[in-house]
Parts: sequence; structure tokens; C-alpha cells
Amino acid sequence: MVAPTLPPLRQTIAEFGLSAQKSLGQNFLLDEQLLARIAAIAPLGGGTPVFEVGPGPGGLTRALLRSGAKVTAVERDARCLPALEQLGAHFPGQLRVIGDDALSIDADALMGEPYHILANLPYNVGTALLTRWLEAPSWPPMWQSLTLMFQREVAERIVAAPGSSAYGRLAILAQWRAEPRIAMRVHASAFTPPPKVMSAIVHIVPKAQPAGVDPATLSKLTAAAFGQRRKMLRQSLKNVAGALDALDKIGVDATRRAETLHLDEWLALARQL
Ligand code: SAM
Repeated sequence: MVAPTLPPLRQTIAEFGLSAQKSLGQNFLLDEQLLARIAAIAPLGGGTPVFEVGPGPGGLTRALLRSGAKVTAVERDARCLPALEQLGAHFPGQLRVIGDDALSIDADALMGEPYHILANLPYNVGTALLTRWLEAPSWPPMWQSLTLMFQREVAERIVAAPGSSAYGRLAILAQWRAEPRIAMRVHASAFTPPPKVMSAIVHIVPKAQPAGVDPATLSKLTAAAFGQRRKMLRQSLKNVAGALDALDKIGVDATRRAETLHLDEWLALARQL
């Protein structure tokens, strides 16, 4: 597809008065080559439905549109909407913009067909949405991949292995029914304005859910165990009904601590309960 001529992103920002607001976690990416590489992480082709959260001035959005994707973008900052409308005019029929808080949107209902999710979001919103997407009650989910920017330390928690200090609920949540990987590290200087921390993009694809594991049980178990991660399991799980018996049945020593249990052991424990 021939890329239509668009004004440089800096010009769009100046024209629509989009000075970055800290309260909205606005750190914009303006390097179009970098944005094209980020868009290429997801397996997109002509007409692929994409749900983008937090398009801002539209840098990632234009990269997605250039790849031929059909984008639905949800942006909370009303100042960005005219700039996004201008962008949509360059790609007729490819961009739908919704001015709203992504946390109040039911993406499955909005998209109505399998779709991919891409987002460069403020840290707290990104983690809240990731948790929601990974805890979908039915599996496989309607989303086919997640490509999400996080501060690097959070990205490392998502892909962490047992025994490391980063290993916790987020790793278990992300790894038991999906496969996460760090697809790209992004230096703070790539953003305008640069944040204080480094960032990384995590790419996550759903995998088959292990049989017999109830998401709510796994969530309750890991909340109790990692809520007191320095304590032995016999202490941290003593208020979860049946958990100590279940540990015994699957042959896990109750003097171990949460961070030493492998994913398979968490799944066996949830299954026992
Ligand atoms: N995608 C653009 C980029 O890469 O340059 C902007 C990224 S900036 C880090 C985060 C964007 O998310 C901002 O445009 C901000 O207004 C938007 N945002 C923050 N909270 C949001 C929410 N709850 N729902 C939708 N958008 C949100």
C-alpha cells in the first residue's frame, strides 16, 4: 500500500495543541521508523481488526493504518480527537475513533469479531487492562494477540521465571493460559517527553488453557500466597480453605515460599481445590 503523505507528528502536535499531560501518562513516540517496527510485532495484514488503546496524536495508529489494519482506537483525551479525525481522512474506512476511557469499554462487544490489541499506555492503566484481558472467563479469548508497552520492570515481571525476584502473580497470570515474550526494549529517550524509566514491549498470544483449572481459584491462591511472599506456604495459605491438604496431596512441601513454585505446581494446586 502506498503511504499517503501525512504531516510529521511534531507538526500534528503543534497544530492541535497536544502538549503532553502528565496526568494522562502522555509520553509520545514520534519516530515513525520505530513506530513501524512496533506495529510489525503483531501479525497484521490488510483488513486485520485492531483495537488500539490511547492513540494520542496517532503515531502508532498511522503505522497500523499503513500496514492495512482496520483500527478502532479509544482515546480519553478529547484534545486528540480532531487530530485522529484528520488522520482517518487519509485512510478512508480504516479508522474508527472513540473518545472514552478504555477501562469502561467492553472491547469484545465493540469489535464483534476476533481482533488484535496494541497499546502504549500509562503504566497503571496498562496493568489494569492486561489483568482484565488475561482473566477473561471464557478461553480462548476473542483477542488474538496483545502488544503492549510497559515500563521495563513490569515487562520483566510478566515474563519472569520462578525463583527470580520479579516472579509473582503477574507472571502466573500471564503464563498459565498465554505465552508472553519481551519483543522490544525501548529507551526512555525515544519518548517525548522522556519518562524516568526504560520501557519494553510485551507480545502475548493465548495458548490452550490447562484442563480443570478455575481462573478464580488460581487468582485467590496466588493473591494469598504472593500477598505474603516471604512467608512459608503453610502460613500464607492457611486461610484458603483446603489449600494445605491440597499441597500435601500434590507433594509440595508447605515450608516452601510462593516464589519457588513453578507454574505447573500452581496449576496442580488450583486443580486440587
Ligand atoms: N499512542 C501514542 C504514542 O505512542 O505516542 C500515545 C501514548 S501515551 C503513552 C498514552 C496515551 O493513552 C495518551 O494519549 C493518553 O491520553 C491515553 N490514555 C491514558 N489513559 C487512558 C484511558 N484510561 N483510556 C484511553 N486512553 C488513555
